[in-house]
Amino acid sequence: MTICLYDPQFGYYTTRAPIGAKGDFITAPEISQMFGEMIGVWVTSNWYELGEPTAFHLIELGPGRGTLMKDVLRVLEKNPQLCAGLSLKMVETNPHFRAMQAEVVKGFDCQWFDGIEAALLGEAPFILIANEFLDCLPIKQFIKTDTGWHEWQVIIDENDRLNFKFADATQNPPKPVDVEAQVGTIVEIATALPAIIEAISKALRANNGMALFIDYGYFKGETGDSLQALHKHEKVWPLSHIGEADLTAHVDFAVIAETALEQQIEIIGPKTQREFLLEMGVEVRAQALCTANPARENEIKNDLSRLIDHDQMGDLFKAIVLKFTKVL
Ligand code: SAH
Repeated sequence: MTICLYDPQFGYYTTRAPIGAKGDFITAPEISQMFGEMIGVWVTSNWYELGEPTAFHLIELGPGRGTLMKDVLRVLEKNPQLCAGLSLKMVETNPHFRAMQAEVVKGFDCQWFDGIEAALLGEAPFILIANEFLDCLPIKQFIKTDTGWHEWQVIIDENDRLNFKFADATQNPPKPVDVEAQVGTIVEIATALPAIIEAISKALRANNGMALFIDYGYFKGETGDSLQALHKHEKVWPLSHIGEADLTAHVDFAVIAETALEQQIEIIGPKTQREFLLEMGVEVRAQALCTANPARENEIKNDLSRLIDHDQMGDLFKAIVLKFTKVL
């Protein structure tokens, strides 16, 4: 997954800007401005909760085309006092996306980073947002067989093609795992996830702030194969379009919650995207947009459905907030 997504010459995220109708996949901010606006509302209310800091960082992980940030900033601009102390930090490896983001943040103080750790350095409180970032993290898969747990690995087979195969040597059961699991059970581990959450938690403890993650995934580690490859909006076999398909896996929100709690960070959620957006007032916003643009009413209502309906993004996508606001 690491090579497919990030190889400097051929990696999926190095060679293209794949989001949108002409790309491979679409994300919530690209569906409707309401998504980013609700996150803008969330950022604003947390800025008040932080005590209206005169300097603070807004960090975004994996901002893509910058659409989410554009909609967030439109909300924040209603509050000149907040904007006066605002500096932006974008964690983005993709040069094509960086160029698009630069257009969006014109006029704002903004810095780009390749990695999360460097973006977290600083003394001021921060608010961090990340939509569909964690699903890009490479995973390992383990399968329970008659002979125990085996890692499911990528090999070059006898026909010189990429293929999947059980590792010969039985691996130690991955954690967390039910040792009584039935033969055929698949467990996935996003190996980098705990370290990322730990680093963000430590930075929150040092400087005060909040982090919001929205992604598709599980409330609590479920079993099964969620590795998915998307090419031009179609699901393809993960080994068939190397470097040309988006590779993702479901995010286990329980790992985020447990890691943050171990670091004495308060958590809110995980809850569904539907609950989060309704709490932020997305229906009120949709109504206001319809009133202002009667000709677009159907489109606006349709977009709202895509974001919050149970059988669309509403339940599959989850939101979790990590928070630390001890007065220094
Ligand atoms: N948040 C955007 C884009 C999601 S796609 C949206 O909702 O539309 C994933 C984004 O994360 C892309 O911008 C991709 O280039 C970036 N990305 C993926 N893995 C990354 C990594 N390891 N470090 C930095 N950026 C990464």
